[in-house]
Amino acid sequence: MGQAFDTKSVQISMKRQDGIPTKVTPIHQTSAFTFTDLEDIESFYDGDRPYLYSRVGNPNTDELGKAVAKLEEAEDGIATSSGLSAIMVGILAAVKPGEHILASKDIYGGTLELLTKEVTSFGIEVTLIDFEEDLEVHIKENTVLLYTESITNPLLRVEDLDKVVEVAKKHSLLTMVDNTFATPYLVQPYSKGIDLVVHSATKYLGGHSDITAGVLTGHTRLIEKARTKCVNLGANLSPFEAWLTVRGIKTLAVRMERHVKNARLLAEALKDNQAIEHVYYPNNVSEKGNGAIVTLKLAPQADINQFFRNLDWIKIVATLAGVETSVSYPAGTSHRNIEKSERDKLGVTDKIVRVSVGIEDSQDIVSTFKHALQQSI
Ligand SMILES: *Cc1c(COP(=O)(O)O)cnc(C)c1O
Repeated sequence: MGQAFDTKSVQISMKRQDGIPTKVTPIHQTSAFTFTDLEDIESFYDGDRPYLYSRVGNPNTDELGKAVAKLEEAEDGIATSSGLSAIMVGILAAVKPGEHILASKDIYGGTLELLTKEVTSFGIEVTLIDFEEDLEVHIKENTVLLYTESITNPLLRVEDLDKVVEVAKKHSLLTMVDNTFATPYLVQPYSKGIDLVVHSATKYLGGHSDITAGVLTGHTRLIEKARTKCVNLGANLSPFEAWLTVRGIKTLAVRMERHVKNARLLAEALKDNQAIEHVYYPNNVSEKGNGAIVTLKLAPQADINQFFRNLDWIKIVATLAGVETSVSYPAGTSHRNIEKSERDKLGVTDKIVRVSVGIEDSQDIVSTFKHALQQSI
């Protein structure tokens, strides 16, 4: 029987078939699994016993991969050590040496580094382009994959996934989308025809800023390949972190509901603030809302450091998506290795602040930002 998103995200725990009937899946904090005799070892290789060694497979990491696959409505999923390792194993599952990837140029900074410095060292070609321009003119003979994000960072461009799927179908290409900012609560790229959907579970899936993890979901055929890459590269997630991430996911729907509402209220409240030149907040993500990241461009006369110093309880960090409201400064962190002129061209100027709106009381958030903005001019 089909379940609603909110039910699926809470009802994760596998039914226990053996021993103690715990309500929550226990943490299988073990590097290996034991065998009684040689037949028992053979039964692992025959596929009758699931686990051998935790780098190869573990109940907690399996539970996480399958839970996110369910939320994305995808066939299968695997958990990995970080968002970046999930992207890496996904790419290696989809692309061979000599083949070519077309990627959107306004994606997460760490992914840009991975694509241009590491993926290329596997003999894979990468071209970064503006996905809003004519995508098709950049497709080459050896192009096999289109790579983008459902909502980009930090300026929050919403990708037209239907168009990406249409172009991919026409040219028989695979597609991969980073759905970290939107989460499956707002957008389900696999349902739209995207082949591989990847997450930095470090962000909203975990939700509490206490783990680093990644999840890749998609077609069984591609996920099986990615699983082999993950095993061979040693990119597995620890059982404890998988367990914490699963615990986080159980409140994803209620957290997102509050995150999204608070973000909308903050974006509205700051729209006409005299210390602000522009508020970036999308309006076309989904009917459930438009995400929980609000990006501010401070006015030329605003002193950005004064703004940061007056944020009181709101922390300055180089991450996002925890339950606590936080701010980050892309020009000084994620984009600091990009030359200033290039950064300015991307719109990531020295006046850009990215706000990850938390689940606190909305009035407390709004008044703290208003106060800090007032102090900045
Ligand atoms: C943080 C982030 C990543 C990288 O994830 P890690 O868990 O830090 O490896 C990738 N994509 C997006 C959109 C992110 O925000």
